[in-house]
Amino acid sequence: MIYQDVSQLIGQTPLMKLAVETPNHVSIYAKLEMFNPGGSIKDRLGEYLMDDAQKKGLLTAETTIIEPTAGNTGIGLALAAQKRGLKTILVVPEKFSQEKQILMRALGAKIVHTPSGSGIKGAIAKAKKLATQIPDSYLPLQFENLANPAAYATSLAPEIVTEFTKNKLSLAAFVAGAGSGGTFAGITQVLKQKFPGLTAAVVEPEGSILNGGASHSHLTEGIGVEFIPPFFAKTKPDVIYTISDREAFEQVKQLALTNGLFVGSSSGAALAASLKLAKELPQNSNIVTIFPDSSERYLSKHIYRFEEEI
Ligand code: PMP
Repeated sequence: MIYQDVSQLIGQTPLMKLAVETPNHVSIYAKLEMFNPGGSIKDRLGEYLMDDAQKKGLLTAETTIIEPTAGNTGIGLALAAQKRGLKTILVVPEKFSQEKQILMRALGAKIVHTPSGSGIKGAIAKAKKLATQIPDSYLPLQFENLANPAAYATSLAPEIVTEFTKNKLSLAAFVAGAGSGGTFAGITQVLKQKFPGLTAAVVEPEGSILNGGASHSHLTEGIGVEFIPPFFAKTKPDVIYTISDREAFEQVKQLALTNGLFVGSSSGAALAASLKLAKELPQNSNIVTIFPDSSERYLSKHIYRFEEEI
């Protein structure tokens, strides 16, 4: 196939069986989302949010897209907005990786920083304020827009179902990190219907509040919530795993050394949680998880250089 534009490269990412030692001979399959053109799972969301807004007649040729983002959604939105000739302003807490911010700018987006200390809530408030000041602006608001889980329910989830069905594999559990919670809610919704009895586990870093812990900063990037995602009202996690930065980065290191996969820390956390869940599952069960992005977009962060023990 000859591709006509970069949005056609989104999705149909590889599903890989990991070569890892697991309790109960459980097999862990990972959807490798770094193979999307913007390098993360969020390309699916950017394209879907823009398509949804267009279908609802919310965009004109002059619209400015404004969104609070940890970075990957910003890259996905910048790609989707560029294709449509729209301007993009991304509101990013300062602490997020430089590489992601360089990519957003390279794709034509403008960045507005908010203080790291005010977290994603601060970025959301700033984006809403900017939207009142900039005429003809549109806020997709991934943290509350139902198009967010729908983006995964309609693209990523069916890809998992197709592969497992085609290969006559059963599926006992799904494991995904939560930032906005859209990936978890959208995919869980579909997999629970197709695989009755499936356990849906959500992963958060220490410093996220799902398990009732206090909110504080963490090194694992892309996951962690400061408020309960509204998408969890209908799609509740069966289990919540709270993974330390140390555990997440240890799995990042191991995946590079043993599987040739150079993944981001949210993927490391997802694998750490999958290994814990495997202890609870019957022999020879299958788990599917999501690896949202690659380590290459965090190399300026010392912890990814593996120069010393973590
Ligand atoms: N991992 C990474 C690297 C991400 O950027 C994100 C999105 N912030 C997630 C996981 C979590 O995805 P979601 O927002 O759908 O919960």
